[in-house]
Amino acid sequence: MSHIVILGAGVVGLTIALESHKRGFKPVIIARDLPQDSDSTGFASPWAGCLWHPFDHEGTTLGSQCDKETFLKLGELSKEIPDLLKRIDVVDLSKDPLNANEMWYNELVGGMREVAASSSKPLPGDFAHGLEWSTYIWDAPRYIRYLGEQVKSKHIPIFKKRLSSLDEAYDLAALESTFAHMDHVDLVINAMGLGSRSLLGVEDPQVYPAKGQTVLVKAPGVERCYMDIGSSFIPGPDDEPYPTIYIVPRPGTSGEVILGGTFLPNDYTPFPDPAQARRILQSAIKIEPKLVKSSSANKNPTWEDIEVISHNVGLRPCREGGPRIELEHRVLGQGWLGPRVHERLVGKKVGVVHAYGFGPAGYQQSLAAARRALDLAEDFCQSRKTH
Ligand SMILES: Cc1cc2nc3c(=O)[nH]c(=O)nc-3n(C[C@H](O)[C@H](O)[C@H](O)COP(=O)(O)OP(=O)(O)OC[C@H]3O[C@@H](n4cnc5c(N)ncnc54)[C@H](O)[C@@H]3O)c2cc1C
Repeated sequence: MSHIVILGAGVVGLTIALESHKRGFKPVIIARDLPQDSDSTGFASPWAGCLWHPFDHEGTTLGSQCDKETFLKLGELSKEIPDLLKRIDVVDLSKDPLNANEMWYNELVGGMREVAASSSKPLPGDFAHGLEWSTYIWDAPRYIRYLGEQVKSKHIPIFKKRLSSLDEAYDLAALESTFAHMDHVDLVINAMGLGSRSLLGVEDPQVYPAKGQTVLVKAPGVERCYMDIGSSFIPGPDDEPYPTIYIVPRPGTSGEVILGGTFLPNDYTPFPDPAQARRILQSAIKIEPKLVKSSSANKNPTWEDIEVISHNVGLRPCREGGPRIELEHRVLGQGWLGPRVHERLVGKKVGVVHAYGFGPAGYQQSLAAARRALDLAEDFCQSRKTH
């Protein structure tokens, strides 16, 4: 049985941990932020919208292949946890004409219907064009806590710890006294999201944050998602920010709805901007009047009649060129900055599987990312046994 250490307890790290347990690995998770830390802006996962909506124009990138593979698995999963993951109608909105056949996922999602505004039948928010289809939504913070409970029920050890170098992960005995008896780690899987930019030994300069600001509101009447499709294709780190708008109800009985949002590359500020919050609320009410709280007596309700629960910020762990799912061979003890590994490990040849850089799509790519990362892990561990 191979001992693997998984770095990160966001949606990617937790999904990998559970899948690795199914495949017969012995996983240990180390992370600075744990599933129960739902209020921490140290990781992206609790702050996601969250729906399946592709961002790549082409269906051929690694990201879109992960979108597709994950989508095909969500039907089964949603039957197990309908309060956390559910299929729902969505309307993409645009000022410009939309062509369903140009969307690589048209067939995958069971077909998209083009709609155009007319004087007798306007579209929400005065948009001229729309695409109606159906997708999946998650309750992100509760889904993360659910994954955390699954990890616990499988007795997968999970430790809160901030690492400053990748080397440290190969010396579990030094990191955590519970593992004092453990003299080797077969493989490390790096699912640290944004942490991959600064972790010594990874230091990926292509990793950058994209600040996402949202408003969580109570509006049980909202039954479908809306998204300004002009905003659904991610800008690069040097592009102008686009004033996005999306409305995503959460599955289950909470009656909560996430209103978004922003996509601000290289903005690390973890607090909401009141001007953006106001813009989001004003734009959202134009699209979905059901956002108004039921107790409102106002005959012409405005954004101030929406019941706000909280203003939120999450930093999407983006990567220029898309996600990285890759095996890397390394030699321990080569970095000069430290912390140093124990001398018995210096010069040891090891492997790391990277699984990070999922940007705005970590949920909708999580199941495929786990499958791919663990295929690489299995190949690596197998090759070690045969040599
Ligand atoms: C506003 C917003 C809306 C979004 N909407 C969607 C959506 O609709 N659909 C979708 O699929 N995705 C969406 N996302 C993106 C999604 O949230 C991310 O892609 C996903 O959460 C990334 O997961 P992750 O596990 O890779 O990283 P994270 O969740 O960031 O987890 C990283 C883990 O690594 C740990 N870590 C980092 N550095 C260190 C260190 N030095 N030492 C130890 N541990 C460390 C952290 O503590 C954490 O446990 C949205 C994100 C935001 C902010």
